[in-house]
Amino acid sequence: MSHADPPFTDEHEQLRASARGFIERELAPHAERWEAERWFPDEAFGKLAAQGLLGLKYPEEYGGQGGDYLHEAVLCEEMARVGSGGTAAGLGAHINIATPPIWKFGTEDQKQRYLVPAIRGERIGALGITEPGAGSDVASITTRAERVDGGWVVGGEKTYITNGVRAHFIVTAVKTTQEGGHHGISFLIIDRGEGVTSSALHKLGWHASDTATIAFDDVFVPEQNLLGELNEGFKLIMANFQWERLAMALGAVGAMSIAWERTAAFARERQAFGRPLSGHQAIRHKLADLATSVYTCRCVTYDALRRFVAGKDPLREVTMAKLLTQRAAYELMDDCLQIHGGAGYMREYWVERAVRDARLGPIGGGSDEIMREILGRSLSL
Ligand SMILES: Cc1cc2nc3c(=O)[nH]c(=O)nc-3n(C[C@H](O)[C@H](O)[C@H](O)COP(=O)(O)OP(=O)(O)OC[C@H]3O[C@@H](n4cnc5c(N)ncnc54)[C@H](O)[C@@H]3O)c2cc1C
Repeated sequence: MSHADPPFTDEHEQLRASARGFIERELAPHAERWEAERWFPDEAFGKLAAQGLLGLKYPEEYGGQGGDYLHEAVLCEEMARVGSGGTAAGLGAHINIATPPIWKFGTEDQKQRYLVPAIRGERIGALGITEPGAGSDVASITTRAERVDGGWVVGGEKTYITNGVRAHFIVTAVKTTQEGGHHGISFLIIDRGEGVTSSALHKLGWHASDTATIAFDDVFVPEQNLLGELNEGFKLIMANFQWERLAMALGAVGAMSIAWERTAAFARERQAFGRPLSGHQAIRHKLADLATSVYTCRCVTYDALRRFVAGKDPLREVTMAKLLTQRAAYELMDDCLQIHGGAGYMREYWVERAVRDARLGPIGGGSDEIMREILGRSLSL
């Protein structure tokens, strides 16, 4: 009899067990140190690659595992077990936002030069869209690419870029025409090299990840590094948004489940007024509400995932899953912290970090307000 929850099968559950074992053995024990050092080592990419975990959804001919988005979904959920949002974010940005556009839109030459070494963990990728003057309003980017003999010269600045210090290549949105709006955006794969400088940013959570500002100072980019069609970069952005948002929803569901389990265990153990915390109705009811939130988020996310994998275009369901889970995860972490009392406010407890790490969810990958705008349009409002 199968113990897998649809849309997952027993095969996915086997992958889950092995990915979980690997993460708990190889990554989680170092999470605290990496957070304190504000950096996780690049070797983590190689370790995942050796397990086949950097290429689950990619074809075998490029070194991938020949799986699909459901295999990748398993990893997104299990990554929460690292216990360091920053480490999960850095690895996740490489897997879920930097390499998919090359797989979908890249030429054979680009796949050989970037996707193959990325799946091997030898070259690390970043996706550079956001700028100091343009975040939610992507169409307002101003990083310019001027046509020159044999390629382009790029000038401008990106900010808040995950893997922005360590990335060997940056899949970068640039303006290739003077006109404004969605037209005239193109993507270039920019190698780290002359004219590319990064400066790390300090932030509330995700401490182990290198979020950075990247300046491009007259960087020459060869013709063959144009990714997708000239002036049609907006299509490339839209093509991966659904998956990026699903990946975030799955990550939140994974993190919420673990936080609930740990907090329930703490509440059964910790004594107050002669009985365990869970023996007090207020705490018991709070934990019941939190279990309901985990279950609701999981159902909504799995439903969107099922539709996505079936090849439908579940814009509304994915948007709802992203909106629901990111805020719910942050609120759940805060409630878990409250149940820990003073201990929850201390650095040595996991929950203090979990709250900080969860705060990014309602901002990144399209903010809550932008999700509501998309829903408003899809609901003909
Ligand atoms: C840790 C971290 C990692 C990131 N990683 C990456 C990365 O790898 N690559 C990348 O390209 N970007 C990345 N980002 C950028 C992220 O996608 C943006 O921060 C996000 O899209 C919001 O853009 P903004 O910060 O410019 O905020 P703004 O767009 O300036 O928005 C500010 C506020 O106004 C609200 N708002 C904006 N427009 C509207 C509207 N029309 N109606 C109502 N409210 C509105 C927003 O929701 C927000 O609350 C990252 C950000 C962080 C913090």
